Amino acid sequence: MHLEEMKKEIENLVFEKGFYNKPKDIPKKLLFAFIELGEASDAWKKGKKEEEIAEELIDVIFYVLDSSRLACPSVDMDRKFLEKLEKNKKRQYQYGEGHRLQ
Ligand SMILES: [Mg+2]
Repeated sequence: MHLEEMKKEIENLVFEKGFYNKPKDIPKKLLFAFIELGEASDAWKKGKKEEEIAEELIDVIFYVLDSSRLACPSVDMDRKFLEKLEKNKKRQYQYGEGHRLQ
């Protein structure tokens, strides 16, 4: 399943479950993504099973894609992913982690 397909599935779920669905809800959704990141970190720290950690990480993806649906609806996230991947590939070795070179 591609990101755009995932986004559509998430949209269907949002409508079906009556979740937040307005542009003003974007900050809440992004906050929820952070909360899910925290849950993933906590699961890892507590030595939980990989399946549980993965589920929390998927929750992050859900909120990120759901936010993109409202914040940048005209952007094809599959295309954007590939563009960003190519951009990152052009970065130097350990880009942004220069402190590790010391
Ligand atoms: Mg969770």
